[in-house]
Amino acid sequence: MSAAAVDLAVVGAGPGGYTAAFRAADLGLSVALVERHARLGGVCLHVGCIPSKTLLHAAALAEDAAEWRARGVLFEPPRFDLELLRAWKERGVGQLAAGLAQLAERRGVTVLRGTARFASGRSLEVAGFGRIRFAQAIIATGSRPAPLPSLPACARVWDSTAALALPEVPARLLVVGGGVLGLELGTVYRALGSAVTVVEMQEQMLGEADADVARAWRKRNAERFAAFHVGCRVEEAREEAGGLVVRLRDAERAWTESFDAALAATGRLPCTEELGLEHAGVAVDARGAIPVNHQQRTNVPHVFAVGDVTGAPMLAHRASHQGRAAAEVAAGGKSAFDARVVPAVAYTDPEVAWAGLTERAARAEGIALERGVFPWAASGRAIGVGRTEGMTKLLFDAETRRLLGAAAVGPHAGELIGEAALAIEMGCERDDIAGTIHPHPTYSETLAQAAEAAAGTVTELYLPKRAR
Ligand code: FAD
Repeated sequence: MSAAAVDLAVVGAGPGGYTAAFRAADLGLSVALVERHARLGGVCLHVGCIPSKTLLHAAALAEDAAEWRARGVLFEPPRFDLELLRAWKERGVGQLAAGLAQLAERRGVTVLRGTARFASGRSLEVAGFGRIRFAQAIIATGSRPAPLPSLPACARVWDSTAALALPEVPARLLVVGGGVLGLELGTVYRALGSAVTVVEMQEQMLGEADADVARAWRKRNAERFAAFHVGCRVEEAREEAGGLVVRLRDAERAWTESFDAALAATGRLPCTEELGLEHAGVAVDARGAIPVNHQQRTNVPHVFAVGDVTGAPMLAHRASHQGRAAAEVAAGGKSAFDARVVPAVAYTDPEVAWAGLTERAARAEGIALERGVFPWAASGRAIGVGRTEGMTKLLFDAETRRLLGAAAVGPHAGELIGEAALAIEMGCERDDIAGTIHPHPTYSETLAQAAEAAAGTVTELYLPKRAR
């Protein structure tokens, strides 16, 4: 295929790229999908969303088994067989990757397995295939872990990909970065048996979420992790016989601790460096991300970019929605990526999920809110399963009572946030949510109860000062 010409070339087969390629093919374009790895699926499928959630499920099972002993369900203390667990994780990933390959074939998408570089504004050089000419292109090359210079390059220092490979269970694990990624992998290793210490530079874990939301997460985890250090950074670290010696500093002191392994989870960088973007004239910003307009077009109108390569929030569902919009525009449609919210979930224990405006952002923007909170301590479902640490919070525009933001903490909070995202997209008002009959007893009914709490009509709580 040395002189191939296609309507659309898509570089990168993660959720952004394969969604774009499949949608474009469905709309009648001839499509080449170029992927440097052997299998389709990108970071999300192979070293991201899917393997991490598989391991988090195993962690949750072990936690449940241990917790329910005192409640009358007696299991042997959980043990992990890392080999079987790795195999199960790979089985799911393999099944999904095979499904993607089939979906590409059925649609007539030409999959080229090789690394692509722009040779000009209308052509790509693909290692092993030669040059491909295109009328339009979509860049979906994703992101890679940001290196952390204060940690040495050695086998004891992991990025998320290394951690997901389950190389071993270190007795003492340092997680650098208390965001979603760090806390998810910290949750896995904690359940596997590591004593996990988390160091976070900001003053709060899960810094994107509101403080009350992060507190609810911490309530359950304060005793389970070895330590949380906020407002703290790694000054330096060195490998010595028997471990990593790490010097930490917060506002008050500097101290040294030893760990058996460290996970760097301090963010990801867009993959733009080796793409030859200069040959196509595509611009990047100071962080290396590709700026795009609402149609996902770069500064070169026939070249689009989608997903992590366009910057934050780096989430799979954002990538796939952007990919869909770009494909539809490339096929001549009037689509745009105009989502009001991109929900975020930490699949930790408890799960933490949020969508739309936070109270912190509302304060910064001077937006007056009406707030409704339903503590899961009053939820029959949560009490029955012994998980009362959670909460559901809804934030309404004080004047119009439209839902602007939502957050939930607790088991399956990630499943609840989809309904809140739909409500925000649809412009739902407080009384729409309060008046929608949710099934009982479910965690989802806490959404309606939070809306009732905002209205002052909730009956499962006593709020004496609210209007009746
Ligand atoms: P990617 O999935 O990164 O795919 C890019 C593809 O492009 C890769 O396959 C790469 O090999 C290929 N590529 C790059 N350069 C070239 C080139 N020059 N030529 C050919 N191919 C190239 N997001 C969620 O929404 N939910 C989660 O639960 C979640 N969990 C995560 C857990 C972890 C541990 C990590 C690391 C990430 C997680 N994410 C999660 C983020 C999610 O994985 C990304 O947002 C998503 O994969 C981005 O999709 P993408 O299509 O932009 O890029």
